[in-house]
Amino acid sequence: MISFWEKRSLVDYNYLVIGGGIVGLSTAISIKEKVPKSSVLVVERGILPSGASTKNTGFACFGSLTELLCDIKNMGEDQTLALVEARWLGLQRLKSRLGEKKIDYQNHGGYELLRENEADVIHSVQSVNKILSPLFRSDVFSERKALIRQFGFNRKVIKNLIYNPFEGQIDTGKMMKSLTSLAQQKGVDLLTGARVLAVERGPGAVEVRVENILNMQPIPFRADYVAICTNAFARDLVPGMEISPGRGQILVTSPVQDLPFKGTFHFDQGFFYFRNFGERIIFGGGRNIDFDEETSYEFEVTPPVMDNLKRMLREIIIPGRDFDIVGQWAGIMGFGSERTPILKKISDRIVVGARLGGMGVAIGSRLGDQICELIVSG
Ligand SMILES: Cc1cc2nc3c(=O)[nH]c(=O)nc-3n(C[C@H](O)[C@H](O)[C@H](O)COP(=O)(O)OP(=O)(O)OC[C@H]3O[C@@H](n4cnc5c(N)ncnc54)[C@H](O)[C@@H]3O)c2cc1C
Repeated sequence: MISFWEKRSLVDYNYLVIGGGIVGLSTAISIKEKVPKSSVLVVERGILPSGASTKNTGFACFGSLTELLCDIKNMGEDQTLALVEARWLGLQRLKSRLGEKKIDYQNHGGYELLRENEADVIHSVQSVNKILSPLFRSDVFSERKALIRQFGFNRKVIKNLIYNPFEGQIDTGKMMKSLTSLAQQKGVDLLTGARVLAVERGPGAVEVRVENILNMQPIPFRADYVAICTNAFARDLVPGMEISPGRGQILVTSPVQDLPFKGTFHFDQGFFYFRNFGERIIFGGGRNIDFDEETSYEFEVTPPVMDNLKRMLREIIIPGRDFDIVGQWAGIMGFGSERTPILKKISDRIVVGARLGGMGVAIGSRLGDQICELIVSG
């Protein structure tokens, strides 16, 4: 039961965006930039965004050499170049929209660690550089074997390093805070702790029913147009979407005295990833340890993955140094059989933008622009 006043002023919007992650917030900002006089509401089920956007590692990346080789094999050269271009343009959009300082963007480059059984990959560097040259106009990948000793990695395990000067890192928390502030500054309304239960197309509008924790009756919001930006959870509202969850587990260390490296690092075809944050290390991944177990919506860390991360940290990444693990957490990504996101109009008034995989920092802002274009064009 809602009041006359609530009905007049609080539940009726031109545009309603479901999901307060990178994509939802970017979409809302893009709509306000395109149609400044419109009313826009973002509804987020968590008190904080509760998917992947506040849980990630903050790599500003577009694919390591072995990941891109895998993409070239599966999708061909042209599609791989198009995918890298989308990620690269998305990163530029994020940086120009929020400002590098506000997201603490730092460019220390990215590296891929290669083990003995991956040594052959080095022979593909030039061919991949050639494929990417229309976009970057200079070599993206190059060998940096000599740095293995300087970075202190275990040389019995790590046999080569591939460097990418175009890769950077951000402060994920600052990025999400800046996106939220920008959205509010532009006049976007934001409701958190507001889980959408159902989206229903009515005559001339869409009804969005939001859970009401005070009593059993959901609150009926009304919008001219709705964007569903719930990533891994999109199937809750749109059954049948080709999207499944993938959990990412992460840990952070105490500051490591004289940490010998800076940058973003990929390992084991991108399934493991670590970076410096000041003198700390943030290290995550390991979905490939047990894909079935990690196809999960549960925000939990598990002993098999965490034990593996800790062991790799001690034995391979910073052997022989003192540190403590001071935090660990999990986030849920959305994956599918294709590497590209879903961008789809499911009715004349409802658009879905989801399935960001492991690179939503890169593509999120641009996908927001694309959702906006689809939804505003009517
Ligand atoms: C551990 C980990 C590490 C990662 N590292 C990187 C990285 O270094 N670089 C990179 O580019 N990407 C990384 N990613 C991926 C990146 O974080 C995601 O691709 C991106 O955040 C997806 O953004 P999104 O807005 O689509 O989804 P989300 O951030 O998941 O946002 C969806 C939102 O919808 C909300 N929601 C769901 N259902 C409902 C409902 N019914 N009603 C209301 N709200 C709802 C959720 O609570 C959530 O906040 C990582 C992800 C994880 C988990």
